[in-house]
This record gives sequence, C-alpha cells and structure tokens, in this order.
Amino acid sequence: MLVQSVPMLDLGHQHRLVADEVAEGFARVLASNSYVLGREVEQFEREYGDYLGLAHVVGVGNGTDALELALAAAGVGPGDEVVIPANTFVATAEAVVRVGATLRLVDVTDDHLIDPAEVALALSSRTRAVIPVHLYGRIADVAAIRRLVGPDVLIVEDAAQSQGARTAGRAAGALGDVAATSFYPGKNLGAYGDAGAVTTNDAGIADRVRALRNHGGTARYEHRIVGSNSRLDSLQAVVLSAKLRHLDAWNAERRVLAARYRQGLARPGITVPTAPEYEAHVYHQFVVELDDRNRVFAELVAAGIGVGIHYPTPVHLLPAFASAGLGGVGDFPRAERQAGRILSLPIYPGLTERAQDRVIASLLEAIG
Ligand SMILES: *Cc1c(COP(=O)(O)O)cnc(C)c1O
Repeated sequence: MLVQSVPMLDLGHQHRLVADEVAEGFARVLASNSYVLGREVEQFEREYGDYLGLAHVVGVGNGTDALELALAAAGVGPGDEVVIPANTFVATAEAVVRVGATLRLVDVTDDHLIDPAEVALALSSRTRAVIPVHLYGRIADVAAIRRLVGPDVLIVEDAAQSQGARTAGRAAGALGDVAATSFYPGKNLGAYGDAGAVTTNDAGIADRVRALRNHGGTARYEHRIVGSNSRLDSLQAVVLSAKLRHLDAWNAERRVLAARYRQGLARPGITVPTAPEYEAHVYHQFVVELDDRNRVFAELVAAGIGVGIHYPTPVHLLPAFASAGLGGVGDFPRAERQAGRILSLPIYPGLTERAQDRVIASLLEAIG
C-alpha cells in the first residue's frame, strides 16, 4: 500500500506566499551593493518593533547570539546567577555560560514552562536574571516571575519559539526587560538562513547590543567596547519583512490545526496540551505526552509521519554541562519525566486537513 508521508515541517507554502516580494527585494539588495545591515535591516527592525509595541529591535546573526548579547548588554556576567528552565533548547543555557554567569536550573510545570514556584526556591542574593522560555510557542508566566523577583532582577525572555503570541494585549518578547528571538527558518517567523533579534524598551541595552553586534561600535572603525560580529544581513531582512505581514494569519492557522489535534486526539493514553487564552499560544510545536513514546515515535516514523522530540534530554543531563554541577538524575523530576513522554507532531501553515488526519489516524493506531 502506498501511503503518502507527512513531513515534520514544510516551508514551501510560506515561501509561495512571499516569493514575489522576496524576489523583488533580493533584486533590489543585490543591485545596492549593501548586503549587511543597511536599509532593509533598519526597516525590518522598525516594523518588528511596531508589531511588538517596543521601541527597539536590534537584528543579530541568530537567536543564540541574541540571548548572549542581551545578557551581556544588560551587564550579566561572572558572579551572577541566571535562572532558566531545565527543559529548553540548549542555546538558553549556552548563552548564560558564554557570558561567564552561573546557571541555576529550575523545574517546569505540567505545561512544560518554567515554574514560578520553583523560581522562588532558586533565588539567591546573586540572582541577576531569570530567563522564561516561551517553549513551544506558549507564553510563560512572566507576571508571576516579576512579582516574585521584584524590579531589580532582570527578566530576559527567550522568545525564539513565540513570535506573535500575546497575553493581555502584550506581545511575547515585550513582557520582560529584554528579549531574544530567533528567526531560524523553522521558527514561526523564519528567515532563509540564520537570523535573530534582541527586543527591548531599554535604550541603553539596545545601544549596547548595537555596538556588541558590530565590533563594539556602530560606525566603521569605531570600537567603543570589545564586541564581536553578529549582524543581520539585508537579504534575511527582506524575507522577514515580507513574512511578518503573514505572521498573524499563519499563527491563526496553527491554532486551527491545534484545535483539530485536540479534538482528534481526545483519547485515554494521550495527553494533549491544555488550551490557554487564545492569543497566548502560537503552537510553534504541538506536543503530546504518551506513556510509550519511543515505540510510538518509531511506528510513526515507519508510517512516514514526521515527528520530533523537543527535547530528549533536559539541560542538566547533557554531556556539555556535566561539569557545571547543575544536578543529576531525579533533581528536576517533571522535566525528566516529560523528556521521556513528549512527542511533537507536524504543525505549520499549509498543513492540510487531509495530511493532519493521517497524522491523527497513525497516532491513534500506534496507541492501539
Ligand atoms: C531556536 C532557539 C534558540 C536559538 O536560536 P538560533 O537562531 O538557532 O541560534 C534559542 N532558544 C530557543 C528556545 C530556541 O527554540
């Protein structure tokens, strides 16, 4: 029997909707001889700032750099402790280590997000920042963390998976003191290569990120501080400006797909994500929990269904952090338990109902 496969991610649909505008923009950039930063980047920074309701967006090379530069620009460094959730993409942890600060992990809620109650227990006199990660596109409880930590501890959002999410009219990436986002191609707002941004209302932080991303200054051969090279290029900015105009519609499409998954997968043995307020989740991933995840994963792959695990190993159990003393097996029980149970299903603009029904049917069959 010939079964058609369903990929985990297909960016073709998005590209078709912006192809003409991107081609036009690329032609303009190529003719301009200005390929790095420049007018297109400034324009995208303005547009994304307006979209978020923020004064400053600084385009950088990728989301990992965005996190590192946000922390560095806010003055986080050696001697400072930074609290992050145990289940996140490794970049959140890398950025903290790279600025020389000390990682403090905390466990997550049943919704896979940083648990404010655990943050309360992890605070010390050296806590300088907390990084709530809006994992899978769902907004973490930044307000609760703010109430806990007061005004003196920085809240640095990791908004890499949450472009377009909102709560009480405010955008993910505009809820803390400063945020980092990634425009890696598969993110909800994705470029055609690596790209990222730091977003903030703090003019001082924005100014320092502008210098840090460009060898310590904003003009050529001006090196006020020791920076590095993490600039956004003009071609990526063209793509991002074009795609930004579709972002709300694409996120709405993801929500419709999420609602269909919830309905189709309402069965004992499958834990679907709880539904938060409408705008607070943009379903970068739709993550279910299963008892027999590894077997189901293998069966879905064999059936041609693209699935993922975000992420298979909590930060404290990654070899890269073995010497960091973050904890061992059993120290972050919810994150560890979830890591063995989570399964990410295909969800993206352009995923057809037919293809989604095939995912649902295959999953139900694998569950038995
Ligand atoms: C993608 C991602 C990053 C890193 O972004 P890159 O652009 O790949 O460097 C950081 N944090 C989270 C949660 C991410 O999903």
